[in-house]
Amino acid sequence: MERDMGRVEGKVALVTGGGSGLGAADCEALAREGATVVVTDVKLETALAVADRIGGGALAMALDVADEGQWIAVMQEIEARFGRLDVLVNNAGVVLSADVEDTTLEQFRWVSAIMTDGVFLGCKHAIPLMNKGSGGSIVNMSSTGALLGYPIFFAYSAAKGAVRAMTKSVAVMCQEKGYKIRCNSVHPGAIETPMVQTAEGRLDKPKEIPDGVLPPGTPGHPKDVAALVLFLASDESRFITGAELVIDNGVTIRP
Ligand code: NAD
Repeated sequence: MERDMGRVEGKVALVTGGGSGLGAADCEALAREGATVVVTDVKLETALAVADRIGGGALAMALDVADEGQWIAVMQEIEARFGRLDVLVNNAGVVLSADVEDTTLEQFRWVSAIMTDGVFLGCKHAIPLMNKGSGGSIVNMSSTGALLGYPIFFAYSAAKGAVRAMTKSVAVMCQEKGYKIRCNSVHPGAIETPMVQTAEGRLDKPKEIPDGVLPPGTPGHPKDVAALVLFLASDESRFITGAELVIDNGVTIRP
């Protein structure tokens, strides 16, 4: 029997914040299923390490998602090398543990610059290149914070709410303009990554995730989210756009 084609075989995929946590797991899943992955991060050394690990012609590039000039340069480089972009995973993020009373304007703007401006700029500059090829899929990393509004993560929840709304605007615009581009948001609950460990003040090693159904309260593994991102990146999800996909082991529906 012949080997099945990879689920994203031949696609070119850019992941932001790809040097750590969920972004690194996304890069691994996309590369495993046949994509050429452009691993980007504000910390180039982490992107280089991930690109080296996943192989498959992966390319590492520095990209601060809050910087429009860097987005333009990265898109020019991808066009020159590959002539197309099929998948954009707007994953980069930061967390700030402060409620509305304790958040300064400067902090609020810092969080917004990375997570709101970053997703806006990613969509804006990826769409023209996707349109030069055969369209594409944009996956925006939001959070259950966009749905519940976590008091202690005030600026973070606000930015993730903006990501949710931008996703729907982009999805509808693409359909109205006849672009073959889908855009969806992913809303994870707590997943064991460096971000969560820092936010909760825990720096212990991630726990082993048991096989099978996870009991309530168990944090997810980056691979759990990467499986969803891979599905949204692939053509298997061609009938899904403008959707918000919650991946939290039921936390948001529990009374
Ligand atoms: P992480 O801290 O492990 O990784 C975040 C990555 O983003 C890092 O590699 C970091 O260098 C990069 N980054 C930070 N600022 C950047 C910038 N200006 N430009 C480019 N890259 C930048 O965190 P993670 O848990 O893997 O988070 C990834 C995404 O998932 C974030 O958007 C986060 O908000 C979201 N998320 C995470 C969880 C969770 O529980 N871990 C839950 C919901 C949503």
